[in-house]
Amino acid sequence: MALQGAFVAHEVMLQSLGANTVQVRTPQDLQLVDALVMPGGESTTMSHLLNTSQLFDPIAKRINDAMPVFGTCAGMILLAKSIADGRPDQCFFGAIDIDVQRNAYGRQVESFETDLTITGLETPFHAMFIRAPQVVRVGSDVEVLSSYEDKVVLARQGSVMVASFHPELTSDSRIHSLFLREV
Ligand code: GLN
Repeated sequence: MALQGAFVAHEVMLQSLGANTVQVRTPQDLQLVDALVMPGGESTTMSHLLNTSQLFDPIAKRINDAMPVFGTCAGMILLAKSIADGRPDQCFFGAIDIDVQRNAYGRQVESFETDLTITGLETPFHAMFIRAPQVVRVGSDVEVLSSYEDKVVLARQGSVMVASFHPELTSDSRIHSLFLREV
């Protein structure tokens, strides 16, 4: 999804793994893809652009039809069931049974990096958190793949995967590989 944010970094990583990529900005673009990545950036801006581009409804329908989707940071916010500290008019997909709180780790200057243990990966993953959302509730059908300080930071439910950090901003492509395996 190439409306705003760090979509190019995802694209470069997916291409390095052999995937063909399309920058999705219109409903026509969406028809070309088997799966969708929602990048980090600013979820309130993306929400606005999802409406003006008329992408919201077609994406919601594809998610409902089990299209694999991977949301990082702002992308995770867009896929959650509910958003604390969102804008009142902010739209989101409710595609994974988690509630998130925007900017819960503080402002841009309080961004941080840490090593995470991730289910399915043999060695730790170096993760960057940038104005990250925090998962404040997790439904029982959600598979937790990683937590940091008792908060879920990587999770999956059906064909939907979310990360509160930015795997696309490192040179480690293992999480994108997990997603592509799903696709
Ligand atoms: N705080 C941003 C938001 O609410 C997300 C930050 C990010 O994607 N790095 O959308």
